[in-house]
Parts: sequence; structure tokens; C-alpha cells
Amino acid sequence: MTHTNTKEADVMDAHEKASRIALEIINILKQSSQEKKRLTVDLLASSMLAENSIRDILSGNGRPDHHIQQEPDLLKRMITNIIGKLADLTPPTNIEIIDAIKDNINKKDYIDDSAEWINEPIKAIRDYQTSLTDKNKELEDFIQLTTQYLEDTEIHLAKEQSSQKQRFQDDRQFEKDLSSNVNMIKDGVDSSEDFSNFKMTVMNKIENINQGIKKKKEHDIRIAKEAEEALAEMSKRMNQIKSEADEIQKRSDEIEYDAVHDKLTGLYNRRAYDQRMKELLTTLEDDDVVASLLICDIDYFKKINDTYGHKIGDLALKKLGALLTERLRTIDFISRFGGEEFAIILYDTDLDGAVKAGDGIRAYIDKSVFSYRDEKIPLTISVGVSSFQKGDDSSTAFERADKALYLAKSSGRNQVKSENDVLHKDSANTV
Ligand code: GH3
Ligand code: MG
Ligand code: MG
Repeated sequence: MTHTNTKEADVMDAHEKASRIALEIINILKQSSQEKKRLTVDLLASSMLAENSIRDILSGNGRPDHHIQQEPDLLKRMITNIIGKLADLTPPTNIEIIDAIKDNINKKDYIDDSAEWINEPIKAIRDYQTSLTDKNKELEDFIQLTTQYLEDTEIHLAKEQSSQKQRFQDDRQFEKDLSSNVNMIKDGVDSSEDFSNFKMTVMNKIENINQGIKKKKEHDIRIAKEAEEALAEMSKRMNQIKSEADEIQKRSDEIEYDAVHDKLTGLYNRRAYDQRMKELLTTLEDDDVVASLLICDIDYFKKINDTYGHKIGDLALKKLGALLTERLRTIDFISRFGGEEFAIILYDTDLDGAVKAGDGIRAYIDKSVFSYRDEKIPLTISVGVSSFQKGDDSSTAFERADKALYLAKSSGRNQVKSENDVLHKDSANTV
């Protein structure tokens, strides 16, 4: 009984001592944590030895060492107690580590080193915490960089335009570089033994990719800018060329038009008449070709000029040109032969038809009103008519019509006379 009591008293004494050691260790842990000191075995040992009561206990004063060694469960309880306190200080995320340490301790039958055991779990936790923090940061940076890279790539891809040959080649090269870098990342992942190596590998490759993207972006922007400028220049030049060509065409049309038209009346001119006559003469051998010629001359035109002025004379010429155009068919060829004289070719028209057409014109002009300051200016024409015959040259038909015109003039003006009238007159005179 006494023995038992003594033993219990020893155990209580040992437990009290162990508790004091545990308390001291916890205080040291707290203090080192607050001061952010790295806890080592030496630091823990010297801190504990600095406490007299602990030094006494550990040096065996008042208690032989064998008492502790005889009570391995007591030491276990002490350690478990400390670990329990440690668990209170540990973030919930790291509780697994504490549990693992507890399991480890429970598995041990005997703990003979009172100082070493504490260093191991603390170091483990610290390392774990540090590595977690570092890894989180690394992971965060990595994710951020990767996201940035993906965003850059996305922006870059969104900016991709046109499929010019050069760009196509550049893109193929870029893709090659990109996939080579990606493959290198894969290789890096496979070969990297730890996260830090892996991170380094990935960072290097991402940097390569970023540099590649940056260079390509600059290159693309330059190419796009150059292409845009070239296109703008081309478009500007094309517009210049087009407007120059338009101008040349317009000018050439004008020259061509002016070459065969009379400026004042807008009718064909003498030159056009000569050309048309030449063309007509080549077709005269054909039996089917029938055409006639009218020579129209304004009556007393000199008087109009003299009475109303040259400008009014010009207006009279213009008016006459308009009236002729109004009255005749579009297939008819109307020209200002010279001065106040007009030569008209009537296609598919024989002499009789031409006389009728000529008289129609004459009557139409006679009926029309040409006035100046409310004063009616008499505007009439005399017309000579001939019909084209086989063997006619450029002047024969004209001469016959001109003779008929002369007859019309001499017959009193404002009349139409044909080559037949001339012949009849001539034969009458002869008779
Ligand atoms: P006739 O009835 O015999 O034909 O008499 P006419 O006065 O019409 O004939 P003449 O040959 O004596 O006079 C023609 C006039 O036409 C002379 C000339 O000044 C005028 N003339 C010729 N060309 C132009 C022109 O472009 N504008 C003007 N205003 N007058 C012209
Ligand atoms: Mg005349
Ligand atoms: Mg005249």
C-alpha cells in the first residue's frame, strides 16, 4: 500500500515535472513564434536550460533520471500534452500534420531523447507552412502569368488579320516556335523533380513565348501598317490614275468631238461632212443604196447681221441648227458646211422624198418665230436638192445641189429647188 502510495507520489511528482517542462516548451514555442525566430534544437535546449527549475529537473536534482526512464508513458503523455497545445496554435489546414505526429508518437513504445522529438514536428510544420505559403505564391504568380499569357495570346489572335503570303509564312514559323516552346514545357514538366524546377522551366518557356509573341506582334503591326500604307498609297495612286485616265478620255472625247463638230451650232462640221461623204461614195455602186443631199442657205443673212449684230446672227445660226435637228430624223446627217450654209445627207431617200423633206424643213423654219426684243426677225432658208448617183465623186452631187440652191435663191428665196428643176430650167432656157 505504502509502496503503491510512494509510486503514485513519484508518478505525480514526475507528471508535475513533465507538465512544467511541457509548459516551458510551449512558452518557448509561443515566444519564438511571436518573435518569428526559427526554432532549433539548440535554441530550445538553451531556452529550457535558462529556466532553473527545468535545469534542475533535467539534471536529475531531486529526481533520479531512471524515474523518467521507468515511466515512458509519462513522457508520452507529456509529449501528447505539448502536441495538443501545439494543435491549438496550428492553423486548421495543418491539423493533419499534428495528427500524423500524434500517431507517430503513439506508435512509439519508448522515447529516449527528450529534446530531439520536438524539433522534428516543429520543423515539419514550419517547412510545410513555408512551402505551402511559397507554393501558394508561386502558384498564384504562375496562374497570373499564365492567365496574362493566355490573354495576350487571345488579344494577339483577335488582332490577327489578312492572309498575305508573308503573314502566312510568319504565322507558320510562329506556330512552330510556339509549339516547340509548349513541347519544351511538357518536357520540363516530365523531367522536373520538384515544383521549383518545374516553375523555372515553365517560366523560362513562357518568357520565350512572350518574347516570341511580342516580336511577332511588333512584326505584325509593322507589316499591317506597311500594308495599310501601301494600300492607301495604291488606292490614292489608283484614284489619281483613274481621274487622270478619265481626264485624258474626256479630253480625247472632246478633241474627237470638236474635230467633227461645229462649236456654235453643235452640228457636224465640214470635216465630218467630207468623211461621211467619202464613206457614202464607197457604197454607191450597190444598187440598193439611195441617198440625197440638201444644201440649205439662210436668206439675206448678211442683213440680219447688219441689222441686229453679229451676236444675233450667231443666235440665228444656233436656232437654225436646233430647228433642223428637231425636224429631221436621227439617221439623217446634218452639218454646217460653212458660214450660213448647211449640208444634209438624207439616207434611204430619193430625189422626190428629199424635195418633200427639204420643203418640210423650209416651211418649219418659216413658221418658227425668231425674235429679238419682241421684234420678229425673219428667218428663212433656200434649199437645193440632189440625189446621189453611181459615179458621183465628192463634189458632183454637191455641185448639182448647189446649182439647185442658186435656182431657189434666184427664184425668190424661201423655196426648195432640185437638180431636176435645174435641168428643166436649163432645158427650158435652151429651148
Ligand atoms: P443670200 O440670201 O443671197 O444668201 O444673202 P446672204 O446675205 O445670206 O448671203 P451673203 O453671202 O451675202 O452673206 C452671208 C453672210 O453670213 C456673210 C457673213 O458675214 C455671215 N456669216 C458667215 N458666217 C457667220 C457666222 O458664223 N456668224 C455670223 N453672225 N455671221 C456669219
Ligand atoms: Mg451663203
Ligand atoms: Mg445666205
